[in-house]
Amino acid sequence: MTTKKPATIAATNGVAQWDRYGAIVPPLQLSSTYAFEGYDKTSGYDYSRSANPNRDLLAETLAKLEEGAGAVVTASGMAAVDLALSQLGQGDTVVAPHDCYGGTYRLLAERARRGDFRVAFVDQGDVAALKAALKGAALLFLETPSNPLMRVTDIRRACDLAHRAGAKVIVDNTFLSPALQRPLTLGADFVVHSTTKFINGHSDVVGGAVIAAREDDLAPLIAWANTTGTIGAPFDAYMTLRGLRTLFVRIAQQERNAAAVAGFLRAQPQVKAVHYPGLPDDPAHALAASQQSGFGAMLSFELEGGIPAVQAFVAAIRIFTLAESLGGVESLVAHPATMTHAAMGAEARAAAGIGDGLLRLSVGLEDADDLLDDLRRAFAAIA
Ligand SMILES: *Cc1c(COP(=O)(O)O)cnc(C)c1O
Repeated sequence: MTTKKPATIAATNGVAQWDRYGAIVPPLQLSSTYAFEGYDKTSGYDYSRSANPNRDLLAETLAKLEEGAGAVVTASGMAAVDLALSQLGQGDTVVAPHDCYGGTYRLLAERARRGDFRVAFVDQGDVAALKAALKGAALLFLETPSNPLMRVTDIRRACDLAHRAGAKVIVDNTFLSPALQRPLTLGADFVVHSTTKFINGHSDVVGGAVIAAREDDLAPLIAWANTTGTIGAPFDAYMTLRGLRTLFVRIAQQERNAAAVAGFLRAQPQVKAVHYPGLPDDPAHALAASQQSGFGAMLSFELEGGIPAVQAFVAAIRIFTLAESLGGVESLVAHPATMTHAAMGAEARAAAGIGDGLLRLSVGLEDADDLLDDLRRAFAAIA
């Protein structure tokens, strides 16, 4: 059999395969427990914390899309990040970006405070700092593109540096999804996802996944997920797979809309800067083009006029909703300084380059004309 293309895997993996009635859609299996076939003989399933068909099919599909050995589906993206960090011991150091997702920052800082492992936060774009931090480290955690400034890290080079230092590499691939970036093919050892975002894509499930490149890295994660019970629920897995079926078409159209929005924003006199690697003159454009198969649907921009301009902008906008999260079919606008990155504190925000005038957009599936009209109205309100 020829290898199927990723969009085919997303649309059809597991279809018409495991139901006695011939159901096309893999049925939802809510049972918490399974009948043994006889003395000391299970059907392959015995108890739903250990394994469940819906969770397993989602894991298998994600592993195929990321080209990994297998995956563990978790209750949230944070549970996935925590599971990926679970093999670290007390003396171990994890190197992480100083501008990583706020929840990841909090988890790393809190586990380090409790003595579970050590953490070094670095600017992952600063190769010298990264090299220095990696000496003696056990793990490198990457997020690319970064949130909210859309900085892009060279995954191949970072993996090379980490592996030479004896560290494994985790990449948080939430912002692009496997439709647009496959870190395991660039040398990473693990990928983590908040499937809450593009993979589910409909803003109605919180979930996560860890995908491991190799079987021997996967087995301890499966065992630990069973030990702690950090697993995703069957219904959530069913919903997430339903969303994943359309990932490739959604993200392609959302990217087209995002490109239109980025071009529009750049022409506005009230905009100081647009951060979208899809723009040909974006500093990350060439690197993004070399390791991604698209630029995605996330971008951010800096408004002139600081907080008063931001307030007027978000009061006037109608189609974009002021909300956290991202990757759904509906467009959202977030103000990182008071929302997603509020917990970082003003000093850490300034160090990471997140100003008070910065707005982040998750561009959805609306008609691009309506999105641009909406932005026109918001800019008129601050003019
Ligand atoms: C949302 C998000 C997470 C956390 O995922 P949850 O599903 O909210 O727990 C981790 N990393 C990134 C980049 C995210 O956007």
